[in-house]
Amino acid sequence: MKEYPNLIKSKLPQVGTTIFTVMSQLANEQNALNLSQGFPDFKGDDKLFNLVADAMHQGLNQYAPMAGLMSLREQIAKKTFNLYGVDYHPDTEITITAGGTQAIYTAIAATITEGDEVIIFTPAYDCYDPAVELNGGKSVYVQLLAPEYAVDWNQVKKLINQRTKMIIINTPHNPTGKILSKNDLLALEKIVSNTDIIILSDEVYEHIIFDKQKHQSVCKFPKLAERSFIISSFGKTFHNTGWKMGYCLAPSNLMKEFRKAHQFIVFSVNTPIQHALVEYLKNENNYLELGNFYQQKRDFFVDSIKDSKFEIIPSKGTYFQLLSYRNISNEKDTEFAIRLTKEYKLASIPVSVFYQKNIDEKILRFCFAKKEETLERAAEILNKVV
Ligand code: GLN
Repeated sequence: MKEYPNLIKSKLPQVGTTIFTVMSQLANEQNALNLSQGFPDFKGDDKLFNLVADAMHQGLNQYAPMAGLMSLREQIAKKTFNLYGVDYHPDTEITITAGGTQAIYTAIAATITEGDEVIIFTPAYDCYDPAVELNGGKSVYVQLLAPEYAVDWNQVKKLINQRTKMIIINTPHNPTGKILSKNDLLALEKIVSNTDIIILSDEVYEHIIFDKQKHQSVCKFPKLAERSFIISSFGKTFHNTGWKMGYCLAPSNLMKEFRKAHQFIVFSVNTPIQHALVEYLKNENNYLELGNFYQQKRDFFVDSIKDSKFEIIPSKGTYFQLLSYRNISNEKDTEFAIRLTKEYKLASIPVSVFYQKNIDEKILRFCFAKKEETLERAAEILNKVV
């Protein structure tokens, strides 16, 4: 169609298509094994599918309540209490969302206005900054570097000023697979006490944590909980990323504003799936086993490439494994990722795209939420790259 000029001035001039779409598309075009975008290549639980089908056949297919089914919010309150010993009131402090990304966008849209600053740790998941920008805010970055990606909380403290409205944290962390420790959260608590800073805590990989470590949810720290939105995801936990189901926890004054935005962004989310999740959540093994399940995959993958020329950067959570190729090539990571996809038929995500500055540490992210045979084939390829 003919385009009328000057109709639109981009609100996101620096933003292109998300790397996940770019790499998944390239993987498809190239018929490559796709370890780029994070999603399982195996089926979830038939029991859960049957529960969804049952709900549909029972006619539970119309709008759910705006904040989500009360019975589902009650199950989430129970789960949160059992895991973290904290009470969230289902009526006023829990909202069901169309996945983690919508919850993150909504929390930002509800709280950030022109001139507000938001502190973001990079490498950062790519939906945070555009949400801040679309709402008139400004992202302020703290760079974390391989292999530890440790946070220097003194540096964070120095960045805080009158305009700082939010700090976004993410643990277990995508793309690095690192986790925040209790000491990290205590340091954060200290920094924000006596400020009006909101914490947005992206905890969508809360159940995917390894080596007997405990997930440090911000809700376990009362002084943080009272100022935090916590984001969780059923897609990650129950292997159905395409269902786009998640939820948000927050104290009622924050949640009230969250819902004002939520009702006009999506209104409410998928009804039959909510009914199915009510039943499915009753068996806590359905999520408590997840850490072991993915630890086995991580160990299998890492073990099968231990003699390759890639350097393994330990993953402590999430379903991502970082590998450094600095002993193989000097190419930019974006170029190397494309070449690996085209020549070797294996797709990954270059980590530099998650930084704002030009930081290229020659590291790629591989998703190991895959069948053993997929991981075996990926390892075979990686072992050949010299
Ligand atoms: N969370 C997924 C990942 O990190 C991607 C989700 C998406 O493509 N939006 O790979």
